[in-house]
Parts: sequence; C-alpha cells; structure tokens
Amino acid sequence: MEKDTNFSEWYNDIVEKAGLSDKRYPIKGMNVWTPYGWKIMRITDAFIRNELDATGHDEVCFPLLIPETEFKKEKEHIKGFDSEVYWVTHAGLNELDVRLVVRPTSETAMYPMFSLWVRSHTDLPLKIYQIVNTFRYETKQTRPFIRVREIHFFESHTCHATEDEAQRQVDEDIVILKKIMEMLCIPYTLLVRTEWDKFPGAYYTVGIDTAMPNGRMLQIGSIHHYRTNFSVPYEITYEDADGAHKNVHQTTYGMSERLVGAMIGVHGDDKGLILPPPVAPFQAVIIPIPAKGNASVVAAAAEKIKDALEKAGIRVKLDDRDERPGSKFFDWEIKGVPLRLELGMRDIDNNVVTFVRRDNGEKGTVSLDDLAPGVTIILESIRKSMYEKAWAKQKECAVNIDSLDNVPERTLRFGWCGSEECGHKFEDENDLKLLGVPYIPEEFSGKCIICGKPAKAAYASRSI
Ligand code: ZN
Repeated sequence: MEKDTNFSEWYNDIVEKAGLSDKRYPIKGMNVWTPYGWKIMRITDAFIRNELDATGHDEVCFPLLIPETEFKKEKEHIKGFDSEVYWVTHAGLNELDVRLVVRPTSETAMYPMFSLWVRSHTDLPLKIYQIVNTFRYETKQTRPFIRVREIHFFESHTCHATEDEAQRQVDEDIVILKKIMEMLCIPYTLLVRTEWDKFPGAYYTVGIDTAMPNGRMLQIGSIHHYRTNFSVPYEITYEDADGAHKNVHQTTYGMSERLVGAMIGVHGDDKGLILPPPVAPFQAVIIPIPAKGNASVVAAAAEKIKDALEKAGIRVKLDDRDERPGSKFFDWEIKGVPLRLELGMRDIDNNVVTFVRRDNGEKGTVSLDDLAPGVTIILESIRKSMYEKAWAKQKECAVNIDSLDNVPERTLRFGWCGSEECGHKFEDENDLKLLGVPYIPEEFSGKCIICGKPAKAAYASRSI
C-alpha cells in the first residue's frame, strides 16, 4: 500500500482494510456504513451539532420527498439539478399526478415551509439545520465518501432581514468551520466559486477545499449567500417594524461525508489510517505483553488501566485477543488508533505504561500514578501536530505559475482577470478546474495568465 505512488488504489485499499464502508451493496455508489466508519461519522456529526447548537441553530428533520411543483419554482436551481435527481413516479400501482423528487439538497423542501413560518421581523433570524442523507445521480466513477450517490451530510439554512445580516451569517459559518476543522485536523482554502460553477440559484458560493496527496483539491463543503434569489419565488416575506413587507435574505452551509474521505487522504500513510484523536472511535488501544507465568498479573493491570482511562472519558479499547502482540499492532495501525499503550511486566514493575504515537512513531512512558492526565496531554499533542503538519502540506501543495506550459500536478495559483472568456479558455484548453478567487483577498501583482490584463489571484487544480 503506497500512498505516494498510487493514491487512488491506496485510498480504496485503506477504506476496505480499516473496515470503514462496504461497497458491495447492489446499488453502485450507495455504500454500507460499517460500524467503524459509522462511528467516525457520528463523532464528526456530534462536533457539527455542538457548534451549530452553540450558535443558535435549531435542528429539524424534513421529509425526503419533494413535490415536482415545489422543486421547479427557482429556475436556476432546477437547471442545475435536473440531470442529477432521482424521481418517485409511482405510489403502489398508481402513477403519481405530481412526481416526487428524492432530495438532492433541501432548499425546495424547506422554503415552502419557511414562507409559512416567517411572518414578522421578530421571527428573524431563522436558523435551522439537519443531518440527513441526500441523493444525487452521479455519473462519474464512484469512490467511497468522495463520490457517492447517497450522501450523508449536514445542511444549515438561515433567513435574515437584510443582506448585511446574511453576510454576517456567512462570517459566522467560517468561524464554525474553523472549530470543526481543528478537531478533524483538516486544512482548508476558502474560494469564491466562478459564476458558472456557483451553486444553482446562489448570489455567490464559497467552496471549502482541501488538498489531497495527489495534488488535487477536494471540495469538502460550501457556504452560499442567496440574497433574495429563493425568497422571491418561494414568497418568504416578513413585515418589518414599519409595516412594510420584504423578502428575507438567505444563506446555506453544508458539509458532507467527504470530511471522512479528507481525513483518510490527508492523514493516512502506507501502514493505514491515522485518525485525529477527537474523532477516533478508540483514542487509545491497550495491548498486554505477557510473558510466561505473569499473564494474569498483566491482564489485571491492563483492565485497571482501561477502567481509569474510561472513567476520565477517554475512548479506549483493551485488545485481549489471543494473538501475538505484533499482529495486534498491525491491525490497530491500519485502523489508525492515535495511541498504542503497551503493558508488560517491566512496565508494571516500573509503575508505567509504554506508549507509541501512531502519527509519528514516537515512543515513551506514562506514569501509572498520572495515567489519565498524561494520556490526555499526549492525545492533545497528537491533534495539534497532525493539524500543523496537514496545514504545512496544504501550503506546500500550492504553487505559483505564470505560464501554462508543463503545469505541475499541484494546486495552482495564478493571475486571472475575472472574465468568463479567459476562465473558460483556461479550463477547456488545459483540462483544469478553476476553483475561484480567495474569499479573503490576497496580495497579487501578476497579470491574467490568458490575456495579460491586470489580474487578481485565482486557484485551480485538476478535478478530483
Ligand atoms: Zn483575462
């Protein structure tokens, strides 16, 4: 399993060997979340829930099916999704008068209800979210977590009185993003998507991208400002303090199971997964190393360590299978458990446990008198150094180019005048995807790489 020489094969291999998902389900692109993978997703969802709850969002759960009549109200939106949706056309033996869309995203499910819920300025802001599965008919080659047809994701939807307030929501979303990414140790770049690539119906879209080891950028989420583009066709209006009726300004924010795909790609190595401690189903694994005549002493001490760590809220696994320690090491390395605790008679005599970090192989001991605080400090140090290392790689991946000859397999930074003509030319003639311009403006002094006119910085990479 060589990550650097064949990332694609390495990725598929790791997903299977670590037991994250099973792609043998008889619908292509609809994979089964197996227990270990689902635990990682659930812990990730819990971080998302915490951050959204803490910023005044309320969780809801909308129906999966959307009537065609509602789905078609926003013209740009429907154009963008028409070829990707699944339809329900029959109920029992009867053909439906109004066909139903299986949600590809929930604007058209939620907004008819928003128009009933929002009446006055006192109902604003309305901030809701849900964590559900969504469906898109993906025609490209599918890949676990990265390109699937049934997608686990969260989506938040907000309504505000003014465009400025909606803009402030976008800024709050970016703060939420930072907190979630600190837990997942995933670096990211915020790019305002091009006009032709923005979310159908949006005023603007900010793509959240992370660099994969093959030099390509993976979009892991997005934030959209809609202005009143949806509230006009869906008639979401409020009465302001002066009695005037106005359309609300809306935003949405979403991230999907690609977060799991990004964690695999960003952190893993040739031995397997490397999970950030905050999301690891097991943050530490205890492996007893018994010798002749002391097996029961070692087993009892290992149990004690497990209890002490569990009591401190650390997710821990005691691997007491009847196998050689070496083969246990191998298994837990594939699964990416951040910290291995080895316990033999010599450790017990010295009142310590030996630890080995999965992220950098560092070895040491922790005193049994100070076990839980000691392990907590090491886990935090792993998280921090994984995040720093990942950011360093993300920055290293971006290269400045001023010519399109011999374009490297990296994230490209270059000048773009902003015209659609140059943008399309750039993409079509070079088989590259123009990811957009930095959301937080960057200093740039070069010229447009296509026409030579004054330009701003833009980013591109090959499509994932
Ligand atoms: Zn140009």
